[in-house]
Amino acid sequence: MKKILVINAGSSSLKYQLYDMTDESVLAKGRVERIGMDASIVVHEPKNREDLRYVEEILDHTTAVRVVLQKLTDPEYGVIQSIDEIDAVGHRIVHGGEKLTQSMLVDDNVKQEIRSLFDLAPLHNPAHLMGITAIENNLPNVPQTVVFDTAFHSTMPPMCYMYPIPKVLYRKHKVRRYGFHGTSHQYVSEQAAKFLNKPLESLKIITCHIGNGASVTAIKDGKSFDTSMGMTPLEGLMMGTRSGDIDPAIVPYAMAKEELTVNEVNSMLNKHSGLMAISGLSSDMREITESMDTDPNAKLAFDMFEYRLRKYIGSYAAALNGVDVIVFTAGIGENSVVLRKAVCENLTYLGVKLDEQRNAERVSKDRRISADDSKVEVLVIPTNEELMIARDTYRLLEGIQQ
Ligand code: ADP
Repeated sequence: MKKILVINAGSSSLKYQLYDMTDESVLAKGRVERIGMDASIVVHEPKNREDLRYVEEILDHTTAVRVVLQKLTDPEYGVIQSIDEIDAVGHRIVHGGEKLTQSMLVDDNVKQEIRSLFDLAPLHNPAHLMGITAIENNLPNVPQTVVFDTAFHSTMPPMCYMYPIPKVLYRKHKVRRYGFHGTSHQYVSEQAAKFLNKPLESLKIITCHIGNGASVTAIKDGKSFDTSMGMTPLEGLMMGTRSGDIDPAIVPYAMAKEELTVNEVNSMLNKHSGLMAISGLSSDMREITESMDTDPNAKLAFDMFEYRLRKYIGSYAAALNGVDVIVFTAGIGENSVVLRKAVCENLTYLGVKLDEQRNAERVSKDRRISADDSKVEVLVIPTNEELMIARDTYRLLEGIQQ
């Protein structure tokens, strides 16, 4: 059992990576975008070969998977001879709710449970189920597994996951904090322990996954203790287009004053807030940092983004009663030298001492950016959620083959 296909299905997109688990190398990766729209875009990037990029009409996920399998076995662009070489398929699933708290093989019960969470993750879980069905239609005999963004956070204690609101909402409608990006937080915390050559369980770690979506997690004993995203990925940090934490009273107030519907207020907070709203320029951190010396709105957006992140790090240092390691990851965390500098310069009270030269280095590998005499280790660790999904799938499949 060696070749594993990892699928991340969105409502109109499907990303894939084919792993050879003998050395955990990526044989090919790519994506199909704009599924169901007039011109779908197919991008296929085989290892050591030229990339393929073209436009084709792809109406549904089943067709998208068929196209992906064609590319993987194509005489010119392919990396395997036959689809029979694919031993298993692992899916990224955003919401596992309270029951699906670890990676597992797909069966009818699992699919039903994913379906029962559609209300909690309306943008994600229906698309993931389409991805599972599309694989069933194309590879009916290949085992499938599911790996949940929420699973790592299932260790949060009630003190951290309950909201101080009437309990009936929890009992009847599952209103509680779940947390997201769990696969990433788990991966970088494990890598951090390996990098430092220390047992994971011995470290108090704060992991900052800062991409378009952003969340911070407080980890102790190797487990998630608290995390900034809540019932949905809207809570917590300010993000590219999401507000993060705001006074909840703003919601009914804005709805009344601006005569907004539920959908409109949802869209306002998810798609038209964050960096985008404050800068009036972009949701992209590169554009914000490029403009902030001349554009006061971009500067305010950056300052708010940094300040809100720093406050979460401070509160999680309090939650953990100290911190040994701070990890930055994802698009902004891995690449934004200025953001990391601004955050770390204000964490000296914790014993953080940044090494500016190390911070400014532009290399994509696990590395230390704190000074040798910093009391807290500050690391940059490129995230790799697909590899975690491939590893979990491999482990589960080895289990049933024994
Ligand atoms: P997603 O949540 O969509 O997976 P990513 O993790 O890819 O997002 O992060 C996207 C963010 O990373 C964007 O805001 C982008 O501006 C930012 N980013 C990427 N490269 C850089 C860079 N060199 N400097 C600053 N920000 C960057």
